[in-house]
Amino acid sequence: MKEENTLNTTENNGLSETGNFIHSYIQDDLGENTNKIHTRFPPEPNGYLHIGHAKSICLNFGLAKLYGGKCNLRFDDTNPTKEDVEYVESIKEDVKWLGFAWEDRLYFASSYFDQFFDIAVDLIKKGKAFVCDLTAEEMREYRGTLQTPGKESPYRNRSVEENLDLFMRMKNGEFKDGEKTLRAKIDMSSPNINMRDPVIYRIAHASHHTTGDKWCIYPMYDFAHPLEDAIENITHSICTMEFEDHRPLYDWVVREAGFKNPPRQIEFARLGLTNTVMSKRKLRALVEDGLVDGWDDPRMPTISGLRRRGYTPESIRDFCERIGVSKANSKVDSGLLEYCIRDDLKGKAKVLMAVLDPLKVVVTNYPEGQVEYVEVENNPVNEEIGKRLVPFTRELYIERSDFMEEPVKKFFRLAPGKEVRFKGAYFLTCTDFVKDENGVVTEVHCTYDPETKCGSGFEGRKVKGTIHWVSADDHVKAEARLYDYMMLDDEETGDLKMNENSLEVLPNVLIEPCVKDAVKGEKFQFMRNGYFCVDTKDTTDDKLVFNRIVSLKSSFKL
Ligand code: ATP
Ligand code: MG
Repeated sequence: MKEENTLNTTENNGLSETGNFIHSYIQDDLGENTNKIHTRFPPEPNGYLHIGHAKSICLNFGLAKLYGGKCNLRFDDTNPTKEDVEYVESIKEDVKWLGFAWEDRLYFASSYFDQFFDIAVDLIKKGKAFVCDLTAEEMREYRGTLQTPGKESPYRNRSVEENLDLFMRMKNGEFKDGEKTLRAKIDMSSPNINMRDPVIYRIAHASHHTTGDKWCIYPMYDFAHPLEDAIENITHSICTMEFEDHRPLYDWVVREAGFKNPPRQIEFARLGLTNTVMSKRKLRALVEDGLVDGWDDPRMPTISGLRRRGYTPESIRDFCERIGVSKANSKVDSGLLEYCIRDDLKGKAKVLMAVLDPLKVVVTNYPEGQVEYVEVENNPVNEEIGKRLVPFTRELYIERSDFMEEPVKKFFRLAPGKEVRFKGAYFLTCTDFVKDENGVVTEVHCTYDPETKCGSGFEGRKVKGTIHWVSADDHVKAEARLYDYMMLDDEETGDLKMNENSLEVLPNVLIEPCVKDAVKGEKFQFMRNGYFCVDTKDTTDDKLVFNRIVSLKSSFKL
């Protein structure tokens, strides 16, 4: 089976032009020269990207695009133990799929390791860094608290020569992990704990995915990140709120390293979503514990999961535009994301008839062996998608839930003696039904009224219900997977826990014959049942699998 062409247009770029506070910072800093803006998206390749990252991608790439500037894709790969090339490849694929281009600006923090090292040596020479022998635990004790100042390390006043010697020996592998660190010499009594002589290099005898065994010392995030930005001439380093208190250290590092045009760090609030875990660590645990079908399980909030589920790049960019950017952390209703995909697909996707839970209907006065091809519009809100022909035969299937032996009030579908419209075809009246030995209805008998053919101009009488159907002789079988939220609030602890009922598999879905030409990743609306996407992973030439992207109705209000 072919793959859907995923090239997409980028008419929206996931960023509201009408502004958020970041626009005014940029305009203040760059004046007329806003096209000089240079941002970056700096993922750590230790997992797959999620919808929270999409917010950051839309913001960074979106700003550059809006102002005619540049945005780099930079892998922040300074922590060798958790990183992997599998993640690097998936991240590139996801950024591209979202509709953004880094052109020739793909960078790896690990390619700056020599520069970081030289800068650290310069700091030592200037008396701004020292090698410390305190253990992690001792360092915690010395650090002080928000209320009390820290205490200076007894190693703080080592000579420059001794520090240089020890740092070289750290680099040469003479010490074990944790035995020594290199620390910036700033201020142990600073009210900002991040400024209390932070560690800038640690020893880790670990292989790195790009530098192999060249290094056994690795720079800390707070040291490496500002340098990466400065080396790449980033003008605005946009990050999430938890780095706000690290900003003085960010500024200290680029200043002490002697960069002339230091980047400006700007913080914004992380995206949180209801019923969703949004941390690579927790998502990785779900994958490793086998609770989901990999990082691209259609229930996962990962970009690859959303893509497999059937979300489009346009819908995700639209979502990022709608949620906006602010400094206040808050949780967005997952219903908004669902709204965005419905809104995107409503005029694009073909609307077909598919029966999820089939019940046979025999039209007793319809000639055996006769087939009529009735015309049905492909999309009620977009005439351009045209029409198709659907075979109507004596034996049909309808949704089991569209028949009731003893109809309750306001049930306007099929029941003994009741007449309904079969979409695009005729009015049918239920005359009888058959049950098996367990009392389960196995067949419904109807008669059709030839006068009522749809499109024939018949206006004789009205019916209250229209139901969907497929021919029993000519249809395509498929499996459909219906999803509920992967995570639920645990009422006792307030934490999120896995929803045991988040996947329902329907093995015997019957769809109109035209669906046989569907390609992997193609999206449809199944009338009354929701939006569905051909699964890219489990669909084969012999088996068609659909993921329900979203149902048609929602309690969410814009
Ligand atoms: P996680 O906690 O999920 O592992 P992270 O922040 O450690 O996320 P990184 O790979 O370091 O993941 O993130 C790359 C960029 O994406 C960073 O600039 C980070 O601030 C941003 N980002 C990560 N999560 C979110 C989120 N939920 N909302 C907005 N931006 C995010
Ligand atoms: Mg991280």
